[in-house]
Amino acid sequence: MRQVVMHAPRDVRVEERPEPTIVEPTDAIIRLTATCICGSDLWPYRGADEVQDAVMGHEYVGVVEEVGSEVRDVKVGDFVVGSFWASDNTCEICRAGYQAYCVNRVPMGMLGTQAERARIPLADGTLVATPGMPDADLLPSFMAASDVLGTGWFAAVAAEAGPGKTVAVVGDGAVGLLAVLAAKELGAERIIAFSRHADRQALAREFGATDIVEERGDEGVARIKEMTGGLGAHSVVEAVGTQESMMQAIHSTRPGGHAGFVGVSHDVAIPGGELFMAGVHLHGGPAPVRRFLPDLVQRIWDREIDPGKVFDLTLPLGDAAEGYRAMDQREAIKVLLTV
Ligand SMILES: [Zn+2]
Repeated sequence: MRQVVMHAPRDVRVEERPEPTIVEPTDAIIRLTATCICGSDLWPYRGADEVQDAVMGHEYVGVVEEVGSEVRDVKVGDFVVGSFWASDNTCEICRAGYQAYCVNRVPMGMLGTQAERARIPLADGTLVATPGMPDADLLPSFMAASDVLGTGWFAAVAAEAGPGKTVAVVGDGAVGLLAVLAAKELGAERIIAFSRHADRQALAREFGATDIVEERGDEGVARIKEMTGGLGAHSVVEAVGTQESMMQAIHSTRPGGHAGFVGVSHDVAIPGGELFMAGVHLHGGPAPVRRFLPDLVQRIWDREIDPGKVFDLTLPLGDAAEGYRAMDQREAIKVLLTV
């Protein structure tokens, strides 16, 4: 089968690789319908993380082709969505809604889903089947559910977005934009998106942002304070992962408010004194996307939400290298690869 391999920074190739096979009786093999390139795939691409001959990709939707002898719920022929951690969905941590920390978790990125087929460990716990075979126009939205929508949704939930709340979102990448959508669906009264890019501002407004703030850092915090009677937002999502964005999120949150952080941390160090004096709730980390998947799959199936709009470039799997280049050059917010 064809699979994306990153041999070294900026050296992405689509190669013939062995077909995946059932290894554990709880595995399933899926034929991918679509996959995509994640912002996190750009770190090794840019040489910020070490990489050598690595299979790539951890987002996936597709059709089940084969199941192991102990798989009970997932059936051959099901169209399925899963998240970037395979999880049993039965351990104590999973049952508490934290499937990204499952005691038996398997990182899908190690198996690589930018490929024609993939082995899905813990298939019954990991995969969620759609009610039927989706129309082609729904594929980008189901693809978004696999990571960026689920992650943005978790961030909004961690920030306790809801009715009567003012929500601010730091980060206008796919996750930040979908945190705006999540805040809207969760009933937030006012949603402020930080963004200085016209195309992303437009999408944020389409997803439910009521206000846009172009300033960032301390100036951004000052704007949020101005807009909220000096108090700060009730709920703030951090979807970048830098020192500046994290402190912007904490300081934009009112005392007693909640900040949900899902931007993968890059050398963030929170000064203890500032944290102590902020008086905010902080919760985040790798999103337990699986907790939200059944609900998100149904909302997409019912066409209540259209998170697939974050994909602004679609390419065939064979052109994956061009997709990486376009995301690296910020010509695309997020790239969908059709298989
Ligand atoms: Zn578990």
